Amino acid sequence: MKYFFFLFSFLNVRCCIAQQQHSIHDLKGGKFIDDSSYIYSLPFENNKKVFLIQAYDSKMSHKGELALDFKVKKKTRVCAARDGIVTGARGDSDEGGLKPENMSDGNYISIKHYDGSVAHYWHLVKNGALVNVGDTVVKGQVIGLSGNTGYSAFPHLHFEVIGYDGTGAYKQLPTRFYTNKGIIYLRPGKFYKAVH
Ligand SMILES: [Zn+2]
Repeated sequence: MKYFFFLFSFLNVRCCIAQQQHSIHDLKGGKFIDDSSYIYSLPFENNKKVFLIQAYDSKMSHKGELALDFKVKKKTRVCAARDGIVTGARGDSDEGGLKPENMSDGNYISIKHYDGSVAHYWHLVKNGALVNVGDTVVKGQVIGLSGNTGYSAFPHLHFEVIGYDGTGAYKQLPTRFYTNKGIIYLRPGKFYKAVH
């Protein structure tokens, strides 16, 4: 039993060190194999097929960012990727584009998870925030409708999670997902199907 615990803690330590060593380069190549982080659902309904247009550190608008852009038609139902409590919701904007002033035009939903991390779902259509601050949501629940508000050139959903990394810094975190291709870190230019 003692040996078991020793092995277990050794693996845990190894795992934390390994997590810190993962570079954005590894993530972009889908090489980041992590075995302890939370497994998210794609933020869409079960079996919904979506195209990932931008992933981590994309040259378009995600340079240095750990965020994902799913190309989806306006008013596609957006689902919670993880259980949590709604800490932010906006749905009154009808403006979107690539002008600097569009940065403050985005409709969004923010959901805080039980480990303190927060997921942001951006660019929702006008009146597309279907939950309110304080609501408890469960993974897979429809929370909003996608759109093209805010700093956005075409209808899509921007998804990112902010939280504490292994070093205590509060920043964007890479997230892995259940998909029809297994449990993976997503890569741009590919289709994925949501599996709840
Ligand atoms: Zn984005």
